[in-house]
Amino acid sequence: MSNASNAELPKSVDPYRLAEHNSTLEGVVPLSALARFREAVLGFAEGATCQVTLSFSMDGERRRVVAGKLEAPVHLECQRCMGPMASTLVSEFHLGFVTSDEQAQQLPRELEPFLTDEFTAELWSMVEDELLLVLPPFPLHARNECPAREDLEAYEPDKAAAEPENRPGENPFSVLAELKKTKH
Ligand SMILES: [Zn+2]
Repeated sequence: MSNASNAELPKSVDPYRLAEHNSTLEGVVPLSALARFREAVLGFAEGATCQVTLSFSMDGERRRVVAGKLEAPVHLECQRCMGPMASTLVSEFHLGFVTSDEQAQQLPRELEPFLTDEFTAELWSMVEDELLLVLPPFPLHARNECPAREDLEAYEPDKAAAEPENRPGENPFSVLAELKKTKH
């Protein structure tokens, strides 16, 4: 088989047929085509794609399942300096195809349900869901790469409390003192 990894992943497939044939699909999804994802990130390079590998199969219980891997380069907003940071989203996932909520509830814990109708699974939508799932909720530059590193203590109150000697101007225990006062 030729290496088709730079070709676009099909938008929709018959997952049941693919599972019966133990098929593997490899391809890319243009990030610009994923509207929900586009809104959730700061941006990405023009023409950036998500690289996807999907291995379809049937498990011992004759469930149709897919084991997937994806990787996408993206720009996130560092929550410390609010500047852009380059990041690579990586995910591995195991989904079970279901056509109803009842089926979804019968899936074993290790399988996430992916709802399809009888004959089609929307793969781009699946990829978008998985990308959204692995977005870090609080992206931060590495400490030594963040332009706001000098303000680190101000943004990381936990650290500041653990290193009070670095903040001679403020007493981390003053809050505690305030709390005590209000008790009396
Ligand atoms: Zn930063």
